[in-house]
Amino acid sequence: MSQNHPYRSLQLPGDAPFELKPSPGKGWGAFATRRINRGATILRERPLFVVRKSNEQITEEDVRTAFQHLPPSAKQQFSHLRDNACVPFTHMTEAFAENSFAISNSVGPQASISPVHGLFLLHSRFNHSCIPNSKIPNTNNEIIASFATRDIMAGEEITFCYNTDFECRNRHERHQALRFICDCKACLPGTPFQQLSDMRRTFIRGLQYLTLGKDLNGQKQGSVSPIIVDPKLKKAAEDFSIPLSSRLFYNLLVMYLLEEEGLLDDFMAERLHPSILNIKALFITERNARIATLAMAQETWLEKFCMALRLYGRADVADHAVAEGLRKLQGLSVEQ
Ligand SMILES: [Zn+2]
Repeated sequence: MSQNHPYRSLQLPGDAPFELKPSPGKGWGAFATRRINRGATILRERPLFVVRKSNEQITEEDVRTAFQHLPPSAKQQFSHLRDNACVPFTHMTEAFAENSFAISNSVGPQASISPVHGLFLLHSRFNHSCIPNSKIPNTNNEIIASFATRDIMAGEEITFCYNTDFECRNRHERHQALRFICDCKACLPGTPFQQLSDMRRTFIRGLQYLTLGKDLNGQKQGSVSPIIVDPKLKKAAEDFSIPLSSRLFYNLLVMYLLEEEGLLDDFMAERLHPSILNIKALFITERNARIATLAMAQETWLEKFCMALRLYGRADVADHAVAEGLRKLQGLSVEQ
């Protein structure tokens, strides 16, 4: 039956390193047809069409109008789309919601004012994993691209993570957000890896709260199941009076935990590493600066963290100015 499935008619680029086929329990998925090296581009894709509205504002009429402007071949491609690979969609908005990505809405001030969603026939076939082997980085143009975050073997399913803050969400929280049951390594219940994974991700969330003064989604934690239970520590995080020494080893510990979890891909490392180097550069007290430099010179994240632990409990001459600077930054962002 899968031989006649409409997804067989979706057009793949000639050099695509994957094929589309049924994925047990997940409808269809993309599977590597040859080895894809870490960092290699898997697919660059133009949207079939875009709708320049936020998700909640997109109407049946919006999608229908965009569809009607398509050439016949593109219309036919759109008509191949199936709800979870099974049945035709009953509404255009459903087809759009299940096969679209937000583009251009996460970069730059203008972008956040004018959200754009594009319909991507092929990237929408990639299934989710909480420990994925590919990533679709944010883009500020309409073409999206996926890259291998580790070596992918021929025959392996290509996956990416559907949400942006799953590194600090436990299994239960992830499933609430996904609205389906993920069966990746981090989600298979009752395994030692899954239990460790929940601990690591909860720990990462706590460490991020200590350094950012809020959750990744911008929320302050209330009294219901707070991640930081010590009120003094929570207050210190929220008014940015966490000392520089603690900031350094919290950040290094996050890197180590991300690595252990299988999430520290090159994109994430590239994003997080500069802020750690910035922290290292802020120390003024000579002994602290020396230890921070020594820590960053270590080879692994675990070694860097262990070295930075020598700073534990140490105040730095820069602490006051750093706290003031962070408060000012926070004040500015609140005013905007
Ligand atoms: Zn999962």
